[in-house]
Amino acid sequence: MINLILFGKPGSGKGTQAEFVKKKYDLIHISTGDVFRYNISKQTELGILAKSYMEKGELVPDGVTIQMLEAEVNKTPNAGGFIFDGFPRTTHQAEMLDKFLINKKLSISMTIALEVDEKILTDRLISRGKDSGRVDDQDRSKIKNRFEQYNKKTSTLINYYRSQDKFFEIEGTGEISEISERIFNVIDSNI
Ligand code: AMP
Repeated sequence: MINLILFGKPGSGKGTQAEFVKKKYDLIHISTGDVFRYNISKQTELGILAKSYMEKGELVPDGVTIQMLEAEVNKTPNAGGFIFDGFPRTTHQAEMLDKFLINKKLSISMTIALEVDEKILTDRLISRGKDSGRVDDQDRSKIKNRFEQYNKKTSTLINYYRSQDKFFEIEGTGEISEISERIFNVIDSNI
């Protein structure tokens, strides 16, 4: 069973690459951002709560995010493994994910980070925002805030996974297929 974290700043291509990884290794892809956006579109209680944070480019509080992630994992008890995309984003989330997986006699296999410069990411996000209409992709100050949240709260996870020998970094620019190959190489050499 492969349980993979796709890691990287907003716009680094986690969602795009998750689609290829999911197909090749037959994994369930869980994007916490996508689950939140789905809940916003359905105007659920969770969606209404998440919206106010997401629109500002801030992280949704850990309590609801962790609970939501656990519910998503529990939906497919017979999965061959998971790709976590956009989760964990704080040390508390990472610790809770480890605990949750241990209870199921599972663990994180590896974390693969897509490394892309913030300037390139900003251009990518602005262009994505034009197509998708995502509010948090259309405003430079919100994008800046998302990078700040990453640098303050999420980047510490690099050490968290590095200390467990589970952290791998790849160059996240170039052709989409080249980037996928880099990810496949990391997975194949470490499972
Ligand atoms: P993403 O689609 O991964 O870029 O996430 C979009 C937004 O959803 C983020 O800016 C956060 O507001 C929220 N979000 C997604 N995943 C998490 C998470 N693991 N913890 C807290 N907030 C999250």
